[in-house]
Amino acid sequence: MPDKAVFLDRDKTIILPNGDNYIYRIGDFYIPDSYITALKKLFDNEYKLFVVTNQGRVAKGYMTEEDVTELHEYLNDIYKDHGFQIEEFAYCPHNPMGHVSPYNVVCRCRKPKQGMFYDLIDRYDIDVTKSWMVGDTERDIVPGNLCGLKTILLRTGYYIGPENADYIEDDLASAANRILITKN
Ligand SMILES: [Zn+2]
Repeated sequence: MPDKAVFLDRDKTIILPNGDNYIYRIGDFYIPDSYITALKKLFDNEYKLFVVTNQGRVAKGYMTEEDVTELHEYLNDIYKDHGFQIEEFAYCPHNPMGHVSPYNVVCRCRKPKQGMFYDLIDRYDIDVTKSWMVGDTERDIVPGNLCGLKTILLRTGYYIGPENADYIEDDLASAANRILITKN
């Protein structure tokens, strides 16, 4: 039987930056306790959890893929201490505006393209009609909608504009509650 899943943007969705800065590495972010509780509740309700994140600053030379994967392993170490885990962290290191080869290319994974989503949906046999995308920008919502996921836009981000998300919530904690009270 296909699994249900929650696809999660990373920066300003499951972790918040210290100050106004970008998140490059461990030490650049914090995690509210309520976010840990939210993810644990989703996991306990048999949602597979996936992170789907653009990390195009690899292509711009601000950080390496090793930095990205180190951060993801660090997150899962924290989550595992609380009895759950992210099934897989999908990230796009590309940006055609970057200068670091081989990352400075047009790719099929950089959101709002759906490449990372299709790959996970296919490999994990995910039932999109029972699954969700949660993120803080339009480029999270657009691919979520195109893949047939229900979508939640968070007010934690900078994005203000025409809303095409199914729901708008304050943060990850209220998004998790929304998912759990909504009949599939
Ligand atoms: Zn890419």
